[in-house]
Amino acid sequence: MGLETASEKERFVEMATRYCKARHEGPAPCPICAETIEYRCERIERCPYKLEKTPCYRCRIQCHNTEMRARVDEIERFSKGGWIGSLTSILKK
Ligand SMILES: [Zn+2]
Repeated sequence: MGLETASEKERFVEMATRYCKARHEGPAPCPICAETIEYRCERIERCPYKLEKTPCYRCRIQCHNTEMRARVDEIERFSKGGWIGSLTSILKK
């Protein structure tokens, strides 16, 4: 467990919080996003490949279950360039 693990978690918490603010109601992170964060941090912690610094999306074992995987994917996608998409959905509200 080193700096990489900590920063991977921090990065995800930051991404999920930003995502939640844009997509969900109330203070971020909401219970759903908090659950996703917790789940994700646990996976990062337990990942046997973390020492190889393999990003999870390129990982061989894909340890996340389907529903959580979908939530994590959405957060990752949002932070990678979903800004325009999320703006559009905010404006449509
Ligand atoms: Zn949320």
